[in-house]
Amino acid sequence: MAKVVERVGDSFADRIYVPAILAGLKITTRHFFRNLFGQKETVTIAYPEVKIPYSPRWRGQHRLLKRDDGEPRCVACFMCSTACPADCIHIVAGEHDDQGREKFPVRFEIDELRCIYCGMCEEACPCDAIRMDTGLHAAPVYNREAAWVRKDQLLARNGRDYAVRADAEGPPCAVSSK
Ligand code: SF4
Ligand code: SF4
Repeated sequence: MAKVVERVGDSFADRIYVPAILAGLKITTRHFFRNLFGQKETVTIAYPEVKIPYSPRWRGQHRLLKRDDGEPRCVACFMCSTACPADCIHIVAGEHDDQGREKFPVRFEIDELRCIYCGMCEEACPCDAIRMDTGLHAAPVYNREAAWVRKDQLLARNGRDYAVRADAEGPPCAVSSK
């Protein structure tokens, strides 16, 4: 035997929508004041003014390491940019005066908006020249240009140094010009 289901939403009140709109506004207003005054229950935070502590396992944004003489360890081999699945590392290589070094990065830029923080670049680097151990979270930016991190910025960042630097005697990355 077929069950007759009572049809709803056909009353005069349903058809003028006003009670439903008022019910929706009541719920929205309740959430608004609960978020405004009962902030202990609020799950969102006012980032970037407020930050939650990260796990100690969080490694952070990239940095470029330097040789003992202050120059980049990077030899512009393009291994990192080749391994990068997001295609966000852009390198312009130049010839170094020191024949023992051959090349160096004239430009080394990372588009942090495209980066997916997979770590493939530091895995691929044969020179231990790039690491993701700064503990820095990507800063909020107002335009795409500001999300491009350049060579000087990458070299200026400090790391938390979980790992010991790779062998300082292994060519070609660590050969000194001195
Ligand atoms: S972390 Fe991954 S996505 Fe980001 S630059 Fe390195 S390889 Fe590319
Ligand atoms: S950071 Fe490492 S992998 Fe990338 S270009 Fe420089 S030396 Fe090569």
